[in-house]
Amino acid sequence: MLFNEVRAMRLSPLLEPSSVAVLGASTTPSVGGDIVETLKRFGYEGGIYPVNPKYETLLDLPCYPSLIDLPAAPDVVAFCIGPKRIPENFRLLPDIGAKAAVIFGGGYAEEGDAGRKIQEEIVDICKTGGIALCGPNCMGVLNPTFGSATYLQIAREPAALAGNVGLISQSGSVCISLLSDVRRFGFSAVVSSGNEAVVNAADYLDFMIDHEATKVIAMFTETIAAPERYVAALDRAADKGKPVIVLKVGKAERSRAAITSHTGGLAGDTKVFSEVLRAHRAIEVDDLDEFVEMIAACQGSPWPTGNRLGVITSSGGMAELILDRASTVGLQLPPLPKEDMAEATRVIGAVSGDGNPLDAWGNGNFAVNTPHALKVVRECAANDAVVLCYDNDDNAPLGYIKTLMARAKFLSESADASDKPHYQMTMRPGLRIEEQIPLLRNAGVPTLFGVQQGLQAIDRLSRWSCWDPAARAPLQNVDQQAIADLDLPNRNTVNEYDSKRLMKQLGLTVTQERIVETCNDALAAAAEIGFPIVLKAVSDDIPHKSELGLVKVGLSDADAVTQAWNDLTDALAKQEAPAKILVQEMVSEGIEVFAGVSHSPDFGHTLAFGMGGIEIEVNPDFALRVLPLRKGDAEAMIGEIRNAARFGSVRGAAPADTKSLAAALYALSDLIGSAGSAIQEIDLNPIKLLPEGRGCIVVDALIVPRQ
Ligand code: ADP
Ligand code: MG
Repeated sequence: MLFNEVRAMRLSPLLEPSSVAVLGASTTPSVGGDIVETLKRFGYEGGIYPVNPKYETLLDLPCYPSLIDLPAAPDVVAFCIGPKRIPENFRLLPDIGAKAAVIFGGGYAEEGDAGRKIQEEIVDICKTGGIALCGPNCMGVLNPTFGSATYLQIAREPAALAGNVGLISQSGSVCISLLSDVRRFGFSAVVSSGNEAVVNAADYLDFMIDHEATKVIAMFTETIAAPERYVAALDRAADKGKPVIVLKVGKAERSRAAITSHTGGLAGDTKVFSEVLRAHRAIEVDDLDEFVEMIAACQGSPWPTGNRLGVITSSGGMAELILDRASTVGLQLPPLPKEDMAEATRVIGAVSGDGNPLDAWGNGNFAVNTPHALKVVRECAANDAVVLCYDNDDNAPLGYIKTLMARAKFLSESADASDKPHYQMTMRPGLRIEEQIPLLRNAGVPTLFGVQQGLQAIDRLSRWSCWDPAARAPLQNVDQQAIADLDLPNRNTVNEYDSKRLMKQLGLTVTQERIVETCNDALAAAAEIGFPIVLKAVSDDIPHKSELGLVKVGLSDADAVTQAWNDLTDALAKQEAPAKILVQEMVSEGIEVFAGVSHSPDFGHTLAFGMGGIEIEVNPDFALRVLPLRKGDAEAMIGEIRNAARFGSVRGAAPADTKSLAAALYALSDLIGSAGSAIQEIDLNPIKLLPEGRGCIVVDALIVPRQ
């Protein structure tokens, strides 16, 4: 933790500077002039040092000819000069005692060798001089709660910017976009981090976690420079009770190192990153609309403690739309209990549906019905939060603003009278009554825009609130000798037969099978195992057998075995690889599933589980977790794939033995826990999942050692 604190401390000159030097300050409008102007508008109390040999004074402040003429060491220097003059000035920073800097302009590294050299020199100066550099290629830093700025845009109304959201964005345009609307939330600190040549998103995240004024952290991310510290920071944010909302872009999979197993191909960077976020309690959103509604939902007080909503509308059609959307995002809308329904209709009159959403139109007397509906819903034990839903807009050509203000007042009074979170939600994004927002904001009632984004935001916040940091599943001992016997460092892949010996050690059931030398041996083994049987080639150099005609299934008598033997040996003759032949029990019954492990360079091993067979390639249906598994993860993975219903009792048949399957998944997690450094990928495909009580059988296995 000390390491984090030291890094976080280093950022205060950048985020909460006691003095700001603006190199290249000139009259407004200009970047340098705007920063000085913003600082004055903030009423910034630290030293403001404009630097420009052309002026004696600038905006009523003494202006200094160069950085070496400053009256005191500046905490941060904003570089508002052309790129050519940056290096010579940057070299002065350690001597003048500067502790931080911001470079706005484009990255040097992209501009060929000369540019890269300059960037390297700048990074060196920062590292040896302990200078926290923001950028290059960024908008800089704005701290509305502290009242400081080294930010590219002028802050015309600093007071309006302040709030509790810490924004860390690698994209400057996203900062512009979010800061464009401060009606529903404001910012405790804003960092446009750009190319992150020195200080990266994980550092800023660490700072925000300890930043008093920051209650919610919003991150717009293209790349993660320091995955390990990033994950550690997510954990720290979770412990501190600060939601971290992440919008990650660049989801097109980057080209990956050659992948041997089929499962390896499924666990792309994007999916792994999403799993990392989930495992560490961050809230992932998919676009800017979701991002903004999520931040808006976090402005409410209190936060939801469950995912059961009580919704009030004044329309049956809207009620159905809300029900449909709620069920797709995973929220529950429990029907209004009988007594509550009776109490509602007593005043409101006839109500359609089951009372949730509660269509509070009834007799049409909204001034009576709205507060009554709110009272019934907030006092109803079946829900955890209250949502009042309707549309209107400042520019609507119909209706009375007075009525709308009365609604907002009813809602804020209901929120005051209750321990449950309250929300106002429009059905459509983009509609709003401006005057309502501050009234609701003061009452801790978020205004959410759009059914889809609004419900999703409430759902995500309730999941965040209900997050239970499950303990790691208890680790079973893995036989180290069995792993050592595999001689992993000296093999490209571990063939099916040998991989299965290890799986057996781990407690998994594998097919009965024997390696044989001759066709006669094969016939003897088949008789022993029992028909039908399977013949397969086994070789470390042939990780995928069937596409080469090296798997012969369903051999039900001696003739079939002999024929298959001849075909298989012919097919094998075409391969250069040394191989053996395996006689194997045929598992005709069961559902084909797979389990596999792969390794991400950033986030370590992940486990995938899903429907097996050729489905993996055609229509993948799988769940993913970062290893090690936590308690309940395996069961959750089995339950969350699209085809999960196939494991239940279908048409009276016995349900599948998912218990044994979960045990197999935990065993793989344990294996990686004790031998992960030697294993790159594992592919158990297929596993045959049998009816309850009969377990699951590993039919094919492949281990790819780590090189
Ligand atoms: P590959 O190396 O091509 O993945 P597999 O051993 O997985 O080879 O065999 C290919 C397919 O043949 C399996 O997906 C499965 O459908 C079927 N198969 C292989 N072995 C058996 C077996 N012992 N019992 C039942 N089906 C099998
Ligand atoms: Mg296979």
